[in-house]
Amino acid sequence: MNFVSTRGNVSKIGFIDTVLMGLANDGGLLVPEKIPQIPAEKLKAMSQLTYQELAYEIFSYYVDGEIPEDELKSLIKKSYATFRHPEVTPVKKVKENMYVLELFHGPTFAFKDIALQFLGNLYSYVAKKTGESINILGATSGDTGASAIEGVRGKEGIRICILHPYGKVSKVQELQMTTVNDKSVLNLAIKGTFDDGQRIIKELFADVEFKNKYHLRAINSINFVRILAQTVYYFYSYFQVTKEKGTKKVNFSVPTGNFGDIFAGYLAKKMGLPVDKLIVATNENNILEGFIHDGVYKPGEFRSTYSPSMDIQVASNFERYLYYLLGENPKEVSDLMEKFKSEGKIVVNEEQLRQVKEDFAAHGVEGEECLQTISKYYAETSYLLDPHTACGVAAYERCNELDEVCITLATAHPAKFNESIERCHINQTFPEQISQLFDRPQYQEVVEADKDEIARKLERLFNSSVK
Ligand SMILES: *Cc1c(COP(=O)(O)O)cnc(C)c1O
Repeated sequence: MNFVSTRGNVSKIGFIDTVLMGLANDGGLLVPEKIPQIPAEKLKAMSQLTYQELAYEIFSYYVDGEIPEDELKSLIKKSYATFRHPEVTPVKKVKENMYVLELFHGPTFAFKDIALQFLGNLYSYVAKKTGESINILGATSGDTGASAIEGVRGKEGIRICILHPYGKVSKVQELQMTTVNDKSVLNLAIKGTFDDGQRIIKELFADVEFKNKYHLRAINSINFVRILAQTVYYFYSYFQVTKEKGTKKVNFSVPTGNFGDIFAGYLAKKMGLPVDKLIVATNENNILEGFIHDGVYKPGEFRSTYSPSMDIQVASNFERYLYYLLGENPKEVSDLMEKFKSEGKIVVNEEQLRQVKEDFAAHGVEGEECLQTISKYYAETSYLLDPHTACGVAAYERCNELDEVCITLATAHPAKFNESIERCHINQTFPEQISQLFDRPQYQEVVEADKDEIARKLERLFNSSVK
């Protein structure tokens, strides 16, 4: 299995190098050169597997022997042993034909744990193998930061710096990140938005000299492992629901920000999983909805919403989709991305737009609609949706036909976003792991959204000694 850059200027590399490179050195994103095809017979056999066994089967296509079987199995086992549910990602039926895939049973109560528990263990495995230290740099709209810190804290030879937008994450998200008192963990609260943070880290990763000098590693969904780990629950939930319903086709509704989770669904479909519609659910930061409806991808003004983890204008993983939409032609991707840089938008032609509409449906959910969805489902089914999942459910209601079966991805636990739940006049009880955060001191530095200042802080962290 080889990986290539969407922009074509990285020579073919294997799985581990792909993990370590994160962002492709030519500024593009790494993708598998050839997406493995899983035959129907094999899918049938896979439907009987536990989550961990399934993860092993799917990862194996991409790892392609670079990690010995027993070690890969033990990495997977360790990564999901921290989850509170034996099924890892259980599926709940909320009403007829409507299912919710609960992705929030990991240590930080959001779906990011599924990939980041594994990536943390994988980095640790690589650090031990090579003897090199690992310095992680990431930007977060709130959940990735907490998950990544939880995934690596206390692991030998790993330092981590997370940029989050100051004052724009929920209280619980902030506490989860900043109550960690560890010399190898640095939280920078930047005066700006998630997009500023993402742009700065992309610039730092694109500085290949800086990146190589400090062994800079990525945990954002620019890292292909994030996507790979997230394909597993599409397979897993598909099998659970089709077993129960006896149907063949299933739709997925996916709360989307950086286009990462939805891209994992797209990849699962390309691997042969019989997914019907992939519904892109956004909040008022709805450029992806605009793209899917009109073929124009144009970031606009940033909006703060009830679903802050999706407050993203420039969706990193969108480039991975473009690569496939343009027929795996890196030259065309590079030209379009250049144009995007100079003109601030991407426009696809009519034929491509037809393909986009075949691949996705979309709905951008307004704030009131999000809150009403939470209230309505709580009143009618007693199921409490978090505001991101509520966007997914609202999009499901808009885009799913009554006779179609749909699984909505529940990307976070409602306790992480009590600010939004309170607006619905709902009192929730916090899980113990969350309520105990409120008594702890916080450790973070507030900084300008300035690449050079951040680079200096990083150098100080990376030059410090770790145990
Ligand atoms: C990150 C996040 C999303 C968006 O996921 P992407 O992979 O960025 O599309 C949705 N909901 C929650 C709760 C998140 O943390």
